[in-house]
Amino acid sequence: MEPIKTIQFELTNYCTGRCVTCNSFHSPTKGFMDLESYKKVITKIKFEGLDPLNFQFNGQGEAFLHPLLPEFPNYAQLQLPGVRRSIITNGSVPRPLHDLTMFDFVEVSFNGGDERIYNAITKLNFQEVLKNIQSWKSFLIKSGSIHMLVFIDNVSSSEDFKKLFQDYPVSLAYKYDNQCGMLPDKTLTEWHRPYKIPCPYLFDVLYFTWDFHVPLCPHDIRRSVDFGCVLDKDIKEILATRLHSETVNQHLDMEFTGICKDCNFNTMIS
Ligand code: SF4
Repeated sequence: MEPIKTIQFELTNYCTGRCVTCNSFHSPTKGFMDLESYKKVITKIKFEGLDPLNFQFNGQGEAFLHPLLPEFPNYAQLQLPGVRRSIITNGSVPRPLHDLTMFDFVEVSFNGGDERIYNAITKLNFQEVLKNIQSWKSFLIKSGSIHMLVFIDNVSSSEDFKKLFQDYPVSLAYKYDNQCGMLPDKTLTEWHRPYKIPCPYLFDVLYFTWDFHVPLCPHDIRRSVDFGCVLDKDIKEILATRLHSETVNQHLDMEFTGICKDCNFNTMIS
């Protein structure tokens, strides 16, 4: 097995938005990651010698909602100082600037360049989110970016997006997750590969849900595949289970079954 590059911690799967691109609000179990258990998991990562490059503190849900947010990257920094700590937020929770400085990189997801399109896609409040982003400007300019997923519903506002954030670093990705086939695929045709590739979630990423389970990937909100709970098992034990190796081998053989069958995540070009 290749070394895991990124470990993702789902600090919570509660969210302030209800984006058309997401189905986290359908998650059957909801909660916030427990800090003390997280510390035990960090100890496991350290002593099992996993040596990841990145910790990403987001998944399903809005991570800025976690009341103890800065404690998570802080503890990671103390225990594993070489690991890059990043987070993606929808920008709707007015955290103080100081909380952002606990991360090496903060990405704000902002999926619409004008108020009407943005509000329709996210069900968030365009003006309030802009106000939060402005309050974080000094940090975002040096260690962050504003990110737009561009797809059929919002492509007409991508130039407005660039103008709106002309004073910030921005990035655009031409992607639209169809959430394992639960949503219609709104990826722009030219950004769609006509075939699937083995999914990066099975090779480069280890995803912990808020209650420390390891599902197939963040899209597997119903945990159709659950490789185990890291509070009960060693991480290497989870990655060595028969279920894990069989799933990895299926992808390597270009066999996509279960929720992977209709998922478009591994067909997108960007
Ligand atoms: S193909 Fe889709 S459902 Fe399967 S692991 Fe990748 S993201 Fe998850």
